Amino acid sequence: MKTAVIYARYSSDNQTEQSIEGQLRVCQDYAQRNDIVIIKTYIDRAMTGTNDNRPDFQQMIKDSDKKEFEHVIVYKLDRFSRNKYETAKYKKILKDNGVKLLSAMENIPDTPEGIILESLLEGMAEYYSAKLAQKVKRGMKETRLKGNFTGGTIIYGYKVENHKILINEEQAEVVRFIYEQYSLGTYVKDIIAELNSKRIFNRGKPFARNTIYNILKNEKYSGIYRFKDEIFENMYPAIVPNEIYTKVRNKIDLNKYGKRSVELVYLLRHKLKCGYCGMPISAECGTAKDGSKRHYYKCLGRKRNNGCTKSSVRKETFENFVLDNILKVLSNSEYVDTIIEALFKLQEMQSNTNSLINSLVKEYKQAEISLNNIMKAVEQGIVNNTTNKRMKELENKLEDIDRQILIEKSKNAFKVSKQAIKEFYIEALKLEPKLLIDYAIKEIRVYEDKLEIIFNSPIKRSPDTNQGFFLFTFNSKLPQYIQNKEKPNMVDIEVKYYV
Ligand SMILES: [Zn+2]
Repeated sequence: MKTAVIYARYSSDNQTEQSIEGQLRVCQDYAQRNDIVIIKTYIDRAMTGTNDNRPDFQQMIKDSDKKEFEHVIVYKLDRFSRNKYETAKYKKILKDNGVKLLSAMENIPDTPEGIILESLLEGMAEYYSAKLAQKVKRGMKETRLKGNFTGGTIIYGYKVENHKILINEEQAEVVRFIYEQYSLGTYVKDIIAELNSKRIFNRGKPFARNTIYNILKNEKYSGIYRFKDEIFENMYPAIVPNEIYTKVRNKIDLNKYGKRSVELVYLLRHKLKCGYCGMPISAECGTAKDGSKRHYYKCLGRKRNNGCTKSSVRKETFENFVLDNILKVLSNSEYVDTIIEALFKLQEMQSNTNSLINSLVKEYKQAEISLNNIMKAVEQGIVNNTTNKRMKELENKLEDIDRQILIEKSKNAFKVSKQAIKEFYIEALKLEPKLLIDYAIKEIRVYEDKLEIIFNSPIKRSPDTNQGFFLFTFNSKLPQYIQNKEKPNMVDIEVKYYV
């Protein structure tokens, strides 16, 4: 028997939300149908999905390392979190603890394409939440907090008068300038140079890089102040519009990924195969002529003397080359369109449940007729153990079919347009290249003079053949690039899509 806990969340901002009791009932039904024992329930009432300071949620995450349960069941994915990063972060923690997230109302197959679809659904939930947050913000009562300054040093751009935080217009101009320039793509060093040339200083000294980044990352400039699990929007008057703040924040996060995190490279490592002998290519450490340590990628076959003669390549330069090319393909609109098209088809397939709904409705009607016939019999005085038992059975069946119809209908409700998929995919690529690389790449075959990058197709037809996979071949001057540390000279990219 599998074990699980239920996590339910209800935010008072949205009247149309399923109640806690409703969520629990659907989750419990789901568990019963799937032979899962519920050992505990975690409930956060009146909490929004946008912040992770939900006490029961945190407790559930904490408890997941006790190995007492294998699954977390939620009514819908957006109960878990409405934020992509948080979802990714906490799902990772759960996964590391051997715990899997299940959604009672959404059918998510555990395959690469399922994962892509899942992140798609999460993206939609987040989009929805951002809209909701705007509405809530507008309707938020000023009385919640008087908005008094709580003490300490006031940040650049503001001043304090009579315990109230006010905009320091002169400094606010500078803050707006920094945000505008950064969002336009100006380098931080150039922003500093520009400020210096205008003789605009911070406390009498030129702005430091860190100060600029701190300004760019400070949510208070968009009017939001977070304290513990609460958000106060009436303390700091906004200096920067929310859209600009979000844009800048995404850009900063993207640049962080641009630095190629260890995780990103680690991910890549498991996908590398020798193009000649098919053995994995793994990193190893060597010593150069001058005695310094060097890291290489070497064919495991050659290392084990299987006769392969594939030469080793320098680690860092090679990694950068591969990642550059993957990102290039993933951001090429022509290829992206092909992927979007496939994702859309996948969605069509998954949500093409009309025939299923029809047969469920038919089944429901038949059960209803049978039940009515028994009722008539009962009215005529024919009552025995068998009729009683049969009535119970039919009643349960009707309830069960009703639930199934509801679930199938909810799948249809999640359908998103091609444009929305595209927007989300492009957004996801910017924000989560790691996730996309992991799910999009099947294998990277390394030759002396070219790379073959095989992309998973969102629709996989047969695992035995290449059917349904994208194959991108990079004919490059690979050894020269590695040796001379020059920019790679891309001859051309050959694209094959097996159908
Ligand atoms: Zn080899």
